[in-house]
Amino acid sequence: MAQDPIPVIQVKGTYRQVGQQIGEAMRPQAQRVLKEMHESVPPFATWEEMLEKGKLFLAHGRMVYPHFIEELEGIAEGANLPFEEVFLSQCEGLWESATWNIGGGGCTDFAARGQATVHGHTMLAHTNDLRPVMERDLVILKVQAEQDPEFMGVSIAGLGFSAGFNAAGIGLTGNDVSSNDIRVGVPRLLIVREILAARRLGEAMNACLVHQRASNYNNIIADANGEIYSMEGSATDCEPIYIEKDIMAHANHYISPPMRRYEADRNRIGGSVIRHHRAMRLLRENFGKLSPELFMELMADHANYPESICKHAGRTITVFSVILNLNELRAWIGRGRPCQTTYVEHSLDAWDPPADWKV
Ligand SMILES: [Zn+2]
Repeated sequence: MAQDPIPVIQVKGTYRQVGQQIGEAMRPQAQRVLKEMHESVPPFATWEEMLEKGKLFLAHGRMVYPHFIEELEGIAEGANLPFEEVFLSQCEGLWESATWNIGGGGCTDFAARGQATVHGHTMLAHTNDLRPVMERDLVILKVQAEQDPEFMGVSIAGLGFSAGFNAAGIGLTGNDVSSNDIRVGVPRLLIVREILAARRLGEAMNACLVHQRASNYNNIIADANGEIYSMEGSATDCEPIYIEKDIMAHANHYISPPMRRYEADRNRIGGSVIRHHRAMRLLRENFGKLSPELFMELMADHANYPESICKHAGRTITVFSVILNLNELRAWIGRGRPCQTTYVEHSLDAWDPPADWKV
């Protein structure tokens, strides 16, 4: 299975039409994911209670991102699923609001620009760690919604995006962080969707800072100018960490002093600390030589195996990895563990900005 390329689905139209096309294409996969959600309700809640809580998140989501809610309604229609259940799949914060589901997460990120890379290009590299069962339902969606720049994102069954880039040269990778200030609000998966629609870096950054968010990821956002930020976020705060000396790494714990107090449990970040420092060392040791091919090797690193950057065991394992070159609008994406995969190259055509944006 690790050798099978992740399928690519191309969709185009209004937000609702895009959603319908995704839902139709991913119907069995989306139905399977929701069935698994039914079976993994937290011990302190019932499915009905989860749906009721989801309605509170929906009110915030609809207020801030009505067009993305339309897209989700389209997915529900296309997949022949109840919208409330599709929306609940976007409310990740609801599934980890107690200590039962904290820790053991994953994803390791590398970023490099300028003198660090072989051609001076801006590059992001990302291992995406999830529960093993999710590898089966991976899909790459190439989405042209309304007048937004076209984007390409990796998704589980069409229900939310994990990483991607768009035709305006905005790149997104990032990490799950467990914060202690999760609240009712805009689900962080809608923030990710907004970042993928960004026409410039400022719009991506504003998405990370949106008011009344329920929680946040550490979103790593970048553009082709080499501007790279690790937006260490929680529900109520955010520290934009700027790339230093042309390299950056991040894993699943807060590293900026202002954000450390939001860490849900600092006694459960050991694996993340090791992956973060290991990634920084690999970047330093390969400074000036970094290329897509070299990133493929670095992401297959096995220090602290099996809970390494190329993660083979634990609650999560690496289900896919991606390398982005934002100057060339190219991506290399591989299913499964980086040490076993075959990367497939993808690309986007450049977006044509509005006339008054051209300099
Ligand atoms: Zn491996």
